[in-house]
Amino acid sequence: MFFCVFELFGRPKLGGCLDPDKDRIVNLTEAWPANLAPAPTDLLDLIKRGDEGLDVVARLLDSVEPTMQASTLKILPPIQRPPKNIFCVGRNYRQHIIEGNVARGIEPNTFPEHIEFFTKAPTTITGHGADIPSHSGITAQLDYEAELAIVIGATGSNLAPDAALDLVFGYTIVNDITARDLQRRHGQWFKGKTLDGTCPIGPWVVHKSVLANVNNLSISLKVNGEVRQSDNTGSLIFDIPTIVEQLSKGLTLEPGDIIATGTPSGVGYAMTPPHFLGDGDLVTVEIEGIGRLENTVRTKLNT
Ligand code: MG
Repeated sequence: MFFCVFELFGRPKLGGCLDPDKDRIVNLTEAWPANLAPAPTDLLDLIKRGDEGLDVVARLLDSVEPTMQASTLKILPPIQRPPKNIFCVGRNYRQHIIEGNVARGIEPNTFPEHIEFFTKAPTTITGHGADIPSHSGITAQLDYEAELAIVIGATGSNLAPDAALDLVFGYTIVNDITARDLQRRHGQWFKGKTLDGTCPIGPWVVHKSVLANVNNLSISLKVNGEVRQSDNTGSLIFDIPTIVEQLSKGLTLEPGDIIATGTPSGVGYAMTPPHFLGDGDLVTVEIEGIGRLENTVRTKLNT
């Protein structure tokens, strides 16, 4: 099952399909059985209904002809307001850690012993196809980071490693857009990671049952068609179950929480010379089995 949230007559609707390549979705909000009202209008609403909600979706996707053309719709973020900040994992792909160490002039093979968690505010969230503000008045070093993201499906804490995946609803794509100069200037990463509109997410959330092995998916990012990042989630130092298990220690995860899992090598700041994003740049993130997230950087008068 693939889910998206789209806008119709100014309102959010939940869409679903079994194969996004066919570019046809069912308007699940519209098709929802009247005797089970109210219908979900976004993904968080559906996730909170648990297995009962998923059973309804499975029946609808089986019986209703998908007629809406997803590529012609205004796609919204699949989760517009998660219960907490978006959780992120820093430095989790081996080659990315090496390129970062080289760029900062330290021993290349210095790897983190523990997961580095940080967050982005919910106001960073933006959808597939939306413009990314360049924030050119406050940063000269806007950069991209292709990431696989986990969507949490239930409430839980202090999970055992073999129970971690039970808490996962599914997976999506995040572009962890980062202002490198602000990231460095403020000591902690938060300020440089949390400018408005710097967390493009979606367009699809894939239910975990669809992905046979989330630890073996190709992930890539292009800027204006040029490949900048290309790796496989098999290169993650801390894998998905480990990330969920570690984050849940002493911290209650809730339905709709989002965890971005780190980015591969090829980020702009580590290039020689560095290449940062600017007005008009088209950034495309693709993850095997999940889809393609595309956004354009735009300079507006107030950014
Ligand atoms: Mg990142």
